Amino acid sequence: RKKIAVMTSGGDSQGMAAVIRAVVRTGINMNCDVFCVQQGYNGLIEGGEYIRKTEWADVRGYLPRGGTPIRTARCKAFYERPGRLTAAKNMVINGIDAIIICGGDGSLTGADRFRAEWPSLLEELVSKGELTAQQIVPHKHLNIVGLVGSIDNDLSGTDATIGCYSALDRISTVISWVQDTADSHSRAFVIEVMGRHCGWLALMAGVASGADFIFIPEQPREDNWKEEMCSIVKKHRDEGKHQTIVVMAEGAQDRYGKKITTDMVKDLLSDPHGLDLDTRVTIVGHPQRGGKPVAHDRMLATLQGVEAVHAVLEATPETETCFIAINENKIVRKPLMAAVQATKEVAEVIKAQDFEKAVKLRDTEFAD
Ligand code: ADP
Repeated sequence: RKKIAVMTSGGDSQGMAAVIRAVVRTGINMNCDVFCVQQGYNGLIEGGEYIRKTEWADVRGYLPRGGTPIRTARCKAFYERPGRLTAAKNMVINGIDAIIICGGDGSLTGADRFRAEWPSLLEELVSKGELTAQQIVPHKHLNIVGLVGSIDNDLSGTDATIGCYSALDRISTVISWVQDTADSHSRAFVIEVMGRHCGWLALMAGVASGADFIFIPEQPREDNWKEEMCSIVKKHRDEGKHQTIVVMAEGAQDRYGKKITTDMVKDLLSDPHGLDLDTRVTIVGHPQRGGKPVAHDRMLATLQGVEAVHAVLEATPETETCFIAINENKIVRKPLMAAVQATKEVAEVIKAQDFEKAVKLRDTEFAD
């Protein structure tokens, strides 16, 4: 029987539990033994109890669950070869040579590195006498398939990452609560949301909430942003609106790459010589990562989890390592490293202020 491992790694997101359920049950249906690795790459390095054979009933209730029940972690040791060497040994001991990993671009990079090094890791383990030549024979190749779990929706080549719609739901809910009290007191609120270098959460939350003004890293503000924002807010107030909502991505910046902070915006809105609005700041923070996944994330996690098992079983040493994407509502396999590289490039390109290129790089087919 083929043995496959599933793990969650890096930052958590809603829908990771649903991924585990889909992979475990599809794997069992396809006559595989499925192992859950606890705490991301830490679990691969620790071995033992951290690598657990998982049965059908073990994942009951995972579909609507928030967080990742098999835990996730950032693992320093996996950046170094000795860490990956121990991980390889633990995998061979358990008879595992296929991994489905759900995480962000860092986790997927680590997985691809592990796959590329696999033959040399096994050779080293044999030469050191930690494994026998016999033991490695059935495990000459490592197959990896990635699933993108991230609230930020920041990975190039896929329209949505697992968790982004749940985080968007949390933000939109918080904004609607804030709008009630803002309206009662005629207040202004500056709301900061997560997303790192990506403005998707801020942009979509702003659209979904009817925000007055939105700051995203992909649209750095020109020198006149203060006048622009104040004149729009004033216009809305003059039209009879009693509350003001400004949504800011944590990566909000001006055209010189300087961070625009919530306090800067608050000071501007509350300036007694200007709009003179009673203004508060709300940092939505970690509630964005919590709670049950919305239906879209459960569906995405399930469809992609099923596809990941098919992909890992069909992979040959010649196949390019893939991740599972969704493009125009279709679940598809795409080259993993091209997407990771395009994602990394986005941050650089934004820093260099080539914003059109940044948007293209995020696109389904990447820029040239
Ligand atoms: P995310 O997957 O959410 O982007 P990180 O970037 O923190 O989060 O990556 C998660 C983990 O993946 C890291 O703690 C590390 O163990 C592993 N990893 C990331 N990049 C590499 C790399 N270049 N080489 C080896 N392991 C890596």
